[in-house]
Amino acid sequence: MQEPTDAAARRAVKPVICYPVETLPQPDLTRYAGFRDRAIKLSEVLVPPREAGTFRVPAGGFFCISSVEGAQVGDLNLWHADDLSERFYSGKTRALHGTHVTSGQRLWSCFPALRPMATIVADTLGWYGKDAFGGSVHDVIGTRCDPYTHNLLSGGQYHHCCHSNLTRALADATGMALHEAEGHVHDVLNVFMCTGFTRDTGQYFMKASPVRPGDYLEFFAEIPLLGALSACPGGDCSTVHSSDQAQCHPLLIEVFATPADVLGDWTSPPPNGYDRRHGR
Ligand SMILES: [Zn+2]
Repeated sequence: MQEPTDAAARRAVKPVICYPVETLPQPDLTRYAGFRDRAIKLSEVLVPPREAGTFRVPAGGFFCISSVEGAQVGDLNLWHADDLSERFYSGKTRALHGTHVTSGQRLWSCFPALRPMATIVADTLGWYGKDAFGGSVHDVIGTRCDPYTHNLLSGGQYHHCCHSNLTRALADATGMALHEAEGHVHDVLNVFMCTGFTRDTGQYFMKASPVRPGDYLEFFAEIPLLGALSACPGGDCSTVHSSDQAQCHPLLIEVFATPADVLGDWTSPPPNGYDRRHGR
């Protein structure tokens, strides 16, 4: 294809950040640290390999996802505990914070609420940064491994992709029928997963996660949350997913509540202020 004569000049135009975050309301991490010091453990769930587990976190509480036994990545879904239509919006979180998230960044909910659901308060893999391949940890790029894409690319029926694991877990937690629950499963935060885009073809890549037993990612719950976490059949995602070939390990979720007298006048962030008239 013939390039226009000013092709080089057009390519040389400098990019601008789509969503500068200077005006985003910033989390008060010092205040959250004070809450965490006084928080009380409520429960824990050990998610078996190639399965998902669910958990509920009160507003103002915390949940912590830990690596135990061996390197393993997890696919996380979040909903408002009392209204499943408000759920994690991975695409907008990516637009605001970039392809990977770490301490001080937030997981945002879908329209029309578009508010912080959870704020990351601790990340023991925060040291990783970006590697020479452009890879980093905890992405909001990947959607979730699922049996439909697997069927499209490889044929066959595989029932322990994260999509199906999350579907079964949500159905069990809510009493919903399987196919009703499936409609609530959404694009995930890939906890501990190391991913990026190849420089030449722009393709989504994964590589062995740097996570080791003892590493954890901890969140402050900005609103009451129902969460589901799948221990991905990809294991540490060094080779393949959507099969039983990879070595997999459990993931531990611990939930903490902050006592009301410690929370004091803290309140959940309100839903977004747009009036929803859409020009009418
Ligand atoms: Zn998966």
